[in-house]
Amino acid sequence: MPELRQNRFTKEWVIMSTERAKRPEDLRVQHDPRPPLPAYSEKCPFCPGNERLAPPAVMAIPADGKWEVRIVPNKFAALSREGEPWRKIERSRRSLNGVGIHEVIVETPNHALTTALLPVENVAEILRAYQQRFTEISADPRITHVTIFKNHGAAAGTSLEHPHSQLIGTPVISSQVRNRVYEALRHYDEFGECIFCEAIKEDLASPARVVVTTQHFFAVEPFASSTPFATYIYPRRHMASFGAISDAEIVDLAKVLKTVLAKLYVGLQNPDFNYTIRTAPHENAGVLYYHWYLSVIPRLTRVAGFELGSGMFINTVLPEAAAEFLRNVKVDLAAAAD
Ligand SMILES: [Zn+2]
Ligand SMILES: [Zn+2]
Repeated sequence: MPELRQNRFTKEWVIMSTERAKRPEDLRVQHDPRPPLPAYSEKCPFCPGNERLAPPAVMAIPADGKWEVRIVPNKFAALSREGEPWRKIERSRRSLNGVGIHEVIVETPNHALTTALLPVENVAEILRAYQQRFTEISADPRITHVTIFKNHGAAAGTSLEHPHSQLIGTPVISSQVRNRVYEALRHYDEFGECIFCEAIKEDLASPARVVVTTQHFFAVEPFASSTPFATYIYPRRHMASFGAISDAEIVDLAKVLKTVLAKLYVGLQNPDFNYTIRTAPHENAGVLYYHWYLSVIPRLTRVAGFELGSGMFINTVLPEAAAEFLRNVKVDLAAAAD
């Protein structure tokens, strides 16, 4: 019998389809092995030596000399960096001019690498760059929310091979973000506790869906996971905003993120994936009822008509089975391509 599970953070229902259930290993990517990439590509705008092909950097780590991480404005930005947001209301129509900040985080000088293969110290540098730009852009009065995300592979929405992630600062807060904040506030008003802290306590007490635990973080397959192998990485300390992460926590998060991505890379043969940092908007930084986390979504299945029409997903891999599978994938944190 299939089971419906409710996502407690959004109140959305998911169908766990045991009838159509697949064994986790059946979702291994069925593609010809991707051809190995060169460490340098002369046409790539993100390779060292080709900096002129991209807009001038807004920051680099280290600031001088040979960079390890570099942030540049997106050449094909979704929003314009200049100008002021003006809201226009005409009868039923609302609009705003498209002001915002869209940047690319070039994660490593090496064209051939991927996060799963980067040394942990480099992953920590990427996260430090995220935090610095997140804090700077959040302070821009035109920006109300900053979304940090990564698209890996064509099914995840990118054709650029060079390891990179992006951030977009928008002049509005999306209804998806607002709804999560509202639900969390409602829960806090009713129970006097952060809904995420409560879930974290429960998950750690009965760890069937936990993939990995460290001092400051843990990774878990959510109870009502809408897609196979969706993995949330939670800070164990209550923090509403990603901007509040400490340096010790960044180092620890780098370990967990690399571990999760390496387990997916090895266990499912380098699947396409997205990750995104779900944080409280700047105006809600510091609240007791919201809790940021990093969500990793492998793109193993396609969204079809039922999902579009109902907003309900059918998941063919139980999160408990996905967690067990990922726990058993052995990865070596020190292993890195050079
Ligand atoms: Zn490159
Ligand atoms: Zn919390």
